[in-house]
Amino acid sequence: MVRMDQTIPGDLQALTPEAEVTLPARAGTSSPIETDAVIIGAGPVGLFQVFELGLLEIRAHVIDSLAEVGGQCVALYPDKPIYDIPALPAVSGQGLTDNLMEQIKPFSPTFHLGQEVQAVERQDDGRFYVRTSAGTEFLAKTVFIAGGVGSFQSRELKLPGIERFNDRQIFYRVRDVNAFNGRNVVVAGGGDSALDWALALVGKAESVILVHRRDGFRAAPATVAKMRALCEAYEMQFLVGQITGFEANDDLLKAVKVAGLDGVTRNVPLDALLVFYGLSPKLGPIADWGLALNRRQLEVDTEKFETNVPGIFAVGDINSYPGKKKLILCGFHEAALAAFGAAKYVFPDKKIHLQYTTTSTKLHDVLGVESPTFD
Ligand SMILES: Cc1cc2nc3c(=O)[nH]c(=O)nc-3n(C[C@H](O)[C@H](O)[C@H](O)COP(=O)(O)OP(=O)(O)OC[C@H]3O[C@@H](n4cnc5c(N)ncnc54)[C@H](O)[C@@H]3O)c2cc1C
Repeated sequence: MVRMDQTIPGDLQALTPEAEVTLPARAGTSSPIETDAVIIGAGPVGLFQVFELGLLEIRAHVIDSLAEVGGQCVALYPDKPIYDIPALPAVSGQGLTDNLMEQIKPFSPTFHLGQEVQAVERQDDGRFYVRTSAGTEFLAKTVFIAGGVGSFQSRELKLPGIERFNDRQIFYRVRDVNAFNGRNVVVAGGGDSALDWALALVGKAESVILVHRRDGFRAAPATVAKMRALCEAYEMQFLVGQITGFEANDDLLKAVKVAGLDGVTRNVPLDALLVFYGLSPKLGPIADWGLALNRRQLEVDTEKFETNVPGIFAVGDINSYPGKKKLILCGFHEAALAAFGAAKYVFPDKKIHLQYTTTSTKLHDVLGVESPTFD
């Protein structure tokens, strides 16, 4: 499983085996992917949107800036139980996501992970041009924004001028752990990612020093225990303190200054610095697409959950309407009605009827299941 803050841009790294994979098209080098629907956001609501669209035979591509599906459920509380999902008395954030992935399997959505949607523009033919940070382009008949609280971004180390070393010596994501073989690496942070990567580097890097502001971690206890054992065996070091400065020679980052709780500031030489300070959501480019906003949420009607731009729908935490509650079950309801709202753009000449998954042979075909016999 690829973790969300080990993002590897591109589609290949983070997909479940079932998901169809497309390589990102680079702007100007290949033609846009034509599709019925683009779903922006692979949180619980974006995933369930795939299902509701699928029942109406509307195929979707799903894009998320994270490397993993599941939105807040996986990024913020994968192991915590949720108690208010109908018919699931208790399910973890990861468990809910796994169930949703299983449920949408029949519709084979294509996932484009580790890419932020940056542009959504209406074309003369009524379709929408969608472009991601990886250069993947789409022409979609409908767009579903299931962007939650916004696209999650890595929290950066804030020291004036240090950003010039980003992607050369400072990394917020690891693409290839072997890139640090034989290097002196400092890993900053106290969560699962910081510890997992620190452990992964032991035996490969020349030295590994973990820096965290306190002697307590948000990571899995077993990982913390392993880290402590490695420190005792002098395989790595742990330093309590905060990175407050750095030393550089022209274009080379030489060391970071770590202010310890003992009042001493230490100079820690390094070749590379990996920073895992967690994720923060940013509404980001969604605010620039000409959609009506109400306190940074997208205004929608409550019949179809359509925005002020016909053909663009907003579901889940990202939308706003009288009485809105940011609950997963509310998002699921919104996804169902939005799918019906979108059908007229995808199938302008088709009359859409409500059918039950229990009894409709048509829906059984669509779902790829046997039709049961009723007495
Ligand atoms: C600690 C905690 C506990 C919770 N417990 C419950 C509970 O018990 N019951 C309940 O109903 N709800 C609970 N919630 C709320 C619930 O998690 C949210 O309502 C739900 O996740 C909303 O789903 P969503 O799909 O709308 O958005 P999200 O889960 O936020 O997913 C949105 C996705 O869109 C992506 N995205 C945004 N913008 C872009 C862009 N431009 N390009 C690409 N990707 C983009 C983001 O990266 C993200 O992955 C809890 C929330 C928290 C934080």
